[in-house]
Amino acid sequence: MNFEVLTLFPGALEPVFNASIIGRAREKGLISVTCTDIRDYTLDKHRKVDDAPYGGGYGMVMMCQPAVDCIRAVKSRLSGTTRVIYMSPQGALFDQNKARELLGYDNLILLCGHYEGIDERIIDLEVDEELSVGNYVLTGGELPAAIVVDCVSRLVEGVLPSPECFEKESLQNGLLEHAQYTRPRVFEGLEVPEVLINGNHALQEEWKQKQCLDRTGKKRPDLLG
Ligand code: SAM
Repeated sequence: MNFEVLTLFPGALEPVFNASIIGRAREKGLISVTCTDIRDYTLDKHRKVDDAPYGGGYGMVMMCQPAVDCIRAVKSRLSGTTRVIYMSPQGALFDQNKARELLGYDNLILLCGHYEGIDERIIDLEVDEELSVGNYVLTGGELPAAIVVDCVSRLVEGVLPSPECFEKESLQNGLLEHAQYTRPRVFEGLEVPEVLINGNHALQEEWKQKQCLDRTGKKRPDLLG
């Protein structure tokens, strides 16, 4: 799976993509993540990428030319299926189902806006879909893009030790995961449930399934509806 992140701040993301599970998946060649600086595509001698909005208003808007040329240049070196996604608070909410759907593409191009956002014609010309990571507004699309890369990557075969890691995980089957415990057996008077220590496998599975239902009902009843 190949991720292409188009941003004005590539340096801000590289450390995120080099760390931990995502960093190891890149090293092993299971995923590829490239951050491209949109500013490298400006034709302006001052490397300008934004301008004041037509019709007035606060802030600056990212201009068409650098972003459109950047998307087209990146697209032209890719093979296989490609989806161009603009990270935007106006998009559909990104969730686990969407992550599974995006896994079906060979390449995801994630366009990060900044400032007051991007010229609408970039979306008209080159964007397949807009995705939001939540009902709040951030300063840029970099963190949202990192969320998509992280979430989709861990579904790629081999990135996690076993498919079980996410198959039984929260939201994967519409429920939350059961409570988890590790050593020590007692911490500040709180004990690990007896069934996880002395119960047999069948009893433990029964306990986990009941926990999944109970916790979902308690914490996220909307999921059960
Ligand atoms: N003026 C825009 C609006 O009202 O829709 C918001 C622009 S926001 C300050 C700057 C950039 O951050 C956006 O272009 C987008 O790429 C990114 N962004 C902000 N919030 C986001 C969210 N919830 N999900 C995804 N991207 C977001």
